[in-house]
Amino acid sequence: MGPVQPGRAAACFLWRAGFDVTVLDGGLTPEPEVAGDIADWHKDQDDVRLVSAAARRTKNSQRANSDDTEKFFLGSDFVYRDTDYQLLESVEGADIRTSLALGGLSNVWGAASLPLTARDTGGWPVTGGDLAPYYKSLKEIIDVCGENDGLGSHFGEDFSAPSFDLGLQGGALLQALAPQQSRLKARGISFGRARLAVANKYSASPEGCVSCGHCMIGCPHRAIFNAAFVIEELQARERFIYQAEKIVDRVMENGQGVSVQGRGLMIARRLR
Ligand SMILES: Cc1cc2nc3c(=O)[nH]c(=O)nc-3n(C[C@H](O)[C@H](O)[C@H](O)COP(=O)(O)OP(=O)(O)OC[C@H]3O[C@@H](n4cnc5c(N)ncnc54)[C@H](O)[C@@H]3O)c2cc1C
Repeated sequence: MGPVQPGRAAACFLWRAGFDVTVLDGGLTPEPEVAGDIADWHKDQDDVRLVSAAARRTKNSQRANSDDTEKFFLGSDFVYRDTDYQLLESVEGADIRTSLALGGLSNVWGAASLPLTARDTGGWPVTGGDLAPYYKSLKEIIDVCGENDGLGSHFGEDFSAPSFDLGLQGGALLQALAPQQSRLKARGISFGRARLAVANKYSASPEGCVSCGHCMIGCPHRAIFNAAFVIEELQARERFIYQAEKIVDRVMENGQGVSVQGRGLMIARRLR
């Protein structure tokens, strides 16, 4: 699963194996007001205030009109904030998103979590079978929900039961497709409920998703998996150090081990 964020997963499993772990990360975080807005929303569930605050932040963002395909978190552009470090210049013919945020793009991702299938890895040196034990381990840090449906034959049945109902459109779509299942299958089309990394493992309330509908602007419940949650959890433990605003330039192997070359990160907004 790409979105599990390899760095966070590696840090987590190395720490569990007993190593001392230091994570050097871009580590950009939202403006402090975002946490304040979430705390206020938890007090009175005032949806209008939450949405208006997010809209105001977006309007004031220097990136607001630069690219309207960029998804912000509760109106904050921190995921893509400018720094003195250019992650990736450009790739011809591709529209690439990069992030130096704590949690990277998982702050804004859609949480669809599907394992690579044999068809995806055909011709690769690694097969689905090679990856299977790692997918199993990842379940310890990321919970994926789904249902026993037409997607099972492609993506397996390793998921938890969802704690929330489908929305109106999703329910209506699946209901309309159900009578056509065998006809569609004969044409190579399968359908089912989205497999989503939406659960209560890290959520603010024991029930996880409460269908508040704010997923598209930023889940205030922490029910959508964000790699930052893994770091937050580890930060409270011994043998784990997290250093934000650090850029790794080179990792070099030599006879004695590995040395890392890096520097502090300059955040454009702070320089202005
Ligand atoms: C709007 C949107 C929706 C998406 N929806 C889905 C979805 O539904 N399902 C799905 O599977 N994927 C989805 N994705 C893609 C998914 O978010 C990414 O594939 C995933 O986040 C990539 O993880 P990553 O760790 O490789 O990189 P990133 O998420 O970009 O994180 C990079 C991390 O590395 C750090 N870093 C990078 N370079 C350095 C350096 N030199 N020094 C120090 N630190 C550094 C950054 O600070 C950051 O913490 C979506 C993406 C977007 C933008």
